Amino acid sequence: MTLTVLMNAGPWLSVPPPGYGGIENVIATLVPELRRLGVRVVLASVESSTLPVDERIAVFPDGQFHALQRPYNQVCGVSQAHLSGVVRALHARDDIDLVHDHVEAVGLATLAAMGPDAPPVLHTLHWDLAKHPELYGNLDGGDRVRVNGVSASQLARAPEALRAHSVGHVHLSTPLAVDADRHAPVAKGDHVVILGRINPGKGQDLGARLAQEAGFRLVLAGPVGPYHRPEDLAAAGDEARQNPDVRFFYDEVAPHVDGDRVRWVGTVAGWERDDLVASARASLFPLRWEEPGGTAVVESLSLGTPVVSTARGCLPELIEHGRTGLLTGDEEELGDLVLAAGGLEPAECRREAARRFTPARMAQRYVELYDRVRAGVTKP
Ligand code: UDP
Repeated sequence: MTLTVLMNAGPWLSVPPPGYGGIENVIATLVPELRRLGVRVVLASVESSTLPVDERIAVFPDGQFHALQRPYNQVCGVSQAHLSGVVRALHARDDIDLVHDHVEAVGLATLAAMGPDAPPVLHTLHWDLAKHPELYGNLDGGDRVRVNGVSASQLARAPEALRAHSVGHVHLSTPLAVDADRHAPVAKGDHVVILGRINPGKGQDLGARLAQEAGFRLVLAGPVGPYHRPEDLAAAGDEARQNPDVRFFYDEVAPHVDGDRVRWVGTVAGWERDDLVASARASLFPLRWEEPGGTAVVESLSLGTPVVSTARGCLPELIEHGRTGLLTGDEEELGDLVLAAGGLEPAECRREAARRFTPARMAQRYVELYDRVRAGVTKP
């Protein structure tokens, strides 16, 4: 019998995302593989999503990422409007075998409250939850609702109430590892890249300072709050500073950005992003938070670029120190490690990605978890 899964991607970005978008990239990677395994996928997202699926549900015409800049109640309003659409669809049909939910806690609470006749829910945790136990609070839904982590360390740090509902973890993967054209080796340049949201947890301030001190060229790629291009941020004026990531950028990162040794290029996408990472000497992750899944880490390996990082969150699970990257517990040591990373072998990084982080492997693992959730299994 064909399994029909409602994949809830949320209202923030289209799938695949136009540039930045960790969760949306995961869904865009997972869905084609699930369909190859015979799973029917109903995607709950926004109308502008172009990912091929069997059916779509959408409330908003396009991604509402810009709304994340607005006050919290308006952000919740967008979430709730999207979820109402999902819940309406679930009430109106009985062919959905399972909901695979990727939206934050609000989504899970709503789906959990749907009652025993609703389909079972697997919610993928995408965040570091140790600091936000209140987000999930009292998880209702009994055997009908389960969660999975994106790394063992993320699950280990999750609140006990959440772990009790866990069916295990699934490492993220990237299609780059199996797309020979896209991950063909390219010549290395002399730059180092930090790919990710500009945010204190991602540590671009530290990376930029160390680049100036140790003397390596650094490219910072990623959005600052909802601003994808430097000119958009500049045009937004002082009002933009209401966003904490914008304040972080201006106060902590920008003083080290000289446009020469350290540059911020905004969000990069598609080939430009892949080339920037593939031609880098190293990908730097000066993390100050416990990175839960690290899509950009896996992408870097796939593109043959060694990873230099603080040994936080899932990094020790993804990176073998001395072979695919260099990890340290001392953030001040990162500058020296960047200089040493040139000695690591790009081919080893690509091999590791192709062995451990393929979309087929991720999809197979999710099909196993879907079976467990449907069977009401509690233990990983
Ligand atoms: N990304 C991108 N362009 C950018 C910055 C990031 O395409 O300028 C992508 C990156 O390739 C990755 C995702 O956005 O797929 C970020 O996911 P990750 O898990 O690394 O970080 P988080 O979800 O915590 O933001």
